[in-house]
This record gives sequence, structure tokens and C-alpha cells, in this order.
Amino acid sequence: MTSKESLPLPEYSVVVPCYNEGENLRVFHERLFNVMQMTGKTWEVVYVNDGSTDDTAEVITALGEKADNIAYLNLSRNFGKEICLTAGLDHARGTDAVIIIDADLQDPPEVITDLIAAYKDVDTVYAQRRSRKTDSWLKRLTAFVFYRVMVGLSNRITIPPDTGDFRLISRRALDALLSLRERHRFMKGLFAWIGFPSRAVLYDRDARYGGYSSFNYWKLWNFALEGITSFTTVPLKIATYIGLITSTVALFYGTFLLIRTLIFGNSVSGYPSLMTAILFLGGIQLMAMGIIGEYLGRVFNETKQRPLYIVERYVNNSKKWD
Ligand code: UDP
Ligand code: MG
Repeated sequence: MTSKESLPLPEYSVVVPCYNEGENLRVFHERLFNVMQMTGKTWEVVYVNDGSTDDTAEVITALGEKADNIAYLNLSRNFGKEICLTAGLDHARGTDAVIIIDADLQDPPEVITDLIAAYKDVDTVYAQRRSRKTDSWLKRLTAFVFYRVMVGLSNRITIPPDTGDFRLISRRALDALLSLRERHRFMKGLFAWIGFPSRAVLYDRDARYGGYSSFNYWKLWNFALEGITSFTTVPLKIATYIGLITSTVALFYGTFLLIRTLIFGNSVSGYPSLMTAILFLGGIQLMAMGIIGEYLGRVFNETKQRPLYIVERYVNNSKKWD
């Protein structure tokens, strides 16, 4: 048996969240393997199976049997990409840096070479899309609005636009990231929150190799809500100010009505304005309560202190040397 010294921890870890990626994983692994071998670094890949319903688990197990630098983490059910990624990062053992990449080949593994080349004097090298020309106009518009809103709402932290999770982060940045254990994990925001110097590498995002994206507009909307509510309480303030403004306006209007009634008497009219005011205020109140509810729901989830994920199985062939 080899001793601990002869097989030290890998320098790089590649973390890959996988949900129904059975069709893509073999091709993905081959391309990743070729790229990582060229770097001349010691490396491992951590495949995290996020409760897939296809043959993802079998494909990863088959890959893992051939090499001892493949770690396989099987979650007990589908937890969603953000949590799945966190599980992978928790199990990444790379001493120098960790690379995060999607399994569907939309993030070309070849770009990792550029990420590693740019990894000098910075803690994060993130892959930024050169253009969004392959996206539909609706996706482009919603992404544009989302980034603008995020930039406007969260001061101090800056989330780079057109950037996903595809990136390289140093070990100390990873440790900082992993110290944030919140349940509502808006990764883009968390990456930005930890700070440290960073650099962008431009790349072209490919189409999915096989399978289907699990993100639709409803999910994207919820994702945006998650982003906003996890990083800023500005919506709560907006609710306060809308309340303040409407009550000030109501006060002036009330004074005006009072004076008018005193001078000209009261002819019972104004049903339309009454209805408008009631409906308007009712709407605003419900909206404000909804906003409070969004935050309260998140507080509720955080206070439960549940673990972020449950591991069904963790296989790491190189572990036996640890
Ligand atoms: N993914 C995951 N759990 C999920 C959904 C997605 O681990 O519940 C993984 C998926 O396998 C892929 C990455 O997250 O590697 C990005 O997912 P997808 O391609 O569906 O998103 P898109 O690229 O369309 O934003
Ligand atoms: Mg994808």
C-alpha cells in the first residue's frame, strides 16, 4: 500500500454539479481529462450527482472505476444546483485552487487553460461571456434588467455581469466561501461577497451538448428573487417609503377635502376617487406584506438550521491514501 506521502492532496479540484447529465458526462470527462493533463498539475474531479433520474450515477461510477482522481458524491435527492455545488466544494480537496464547471459542455473545458493562465496575483478568475448572441432576446433583456437591479440595490459588492458559476477560485477564497452556510444560496452573490482580487477571462458559451436545461423563466424569476432578497433589504425600505409618500399625499388631500367641505358644504360625490384610493392602498399594503413575507420566509428557513444537503454516498478512490 502506498504511504500517505507518496500521493499527496491534489493541487486542483474540479467540481461538477450533475443533474440528468448521463448523455454528456463521458464526452465531458474526456475533454476535461485532456485539458487537465496538459496543465501539468495534480488534479481531481468531484462529480456531484444531484438526485438524477437518468443514468448519471452509473456513468460516474463507471468513470470512477478507471481512475483514482475521480471523487463521486451522491446526494440523497435533488437539492438544486446551488446546494449541489456547495456539496461538491465541501468535498474538494485541492490545495491550490478549485474550478467550477457545468457538466453539459456549455462551459467548454478548454477554457480552463485560460483560467489557470490568468490565475496570478488574484483569488478568483471568472469566465465572462463575450456575447449573449445565442440567447433569445427575452433572456437577454431579463438578464440585463436583473444585473442592473442587482448593481443598483447592493452597494459595496459587485456582481460581474454575464458571468455564471464557471470560474477558478483559490483555496483561501474557497475557505471563505464555505464559511457562509446560509440555506438560500445565491452563488453569484456569495462569490462577490467574499471579495478578494479577481479577474475576468472572456469566452463563448456553447449550446448544451445533450439533455435539457432545467431552468425556465419561472425558475429564473425565483432565482432573481433569491438574489435580491439574500443580498439587500432595499425592497423593505422601498415599502416603507411608498407608505410614507402615500400617507403624506393622503394627509394633504384630506386637509384639502376638509377645507373644501367647510367652505362649500358636502355634496355626496367622489365614489370613483374613493374606490381608487381604497384599491390603490389595498394593493400597496398587500405588496408590502408580500415583500415582508419573502424575507420572513427566508428567516424561517434559516432558523431551522437544517444541514444544507444529505450525502447518500461518497466514493473517493484516492481517499485510501489519506
Ligand atoms: N444542475 C444541478 N442540479 C439541478 C439543476 C442543474 O446540479 O437541480 C446542474 C446541471 O447538471 C448543470 C448545471 O447545474 O451541470 C447547469 O444546469 P443547466 O444546464 O440546466 O442550466 P443552464 O445552463 O440552462 O443555466
Ligand atoms: Mg447548461
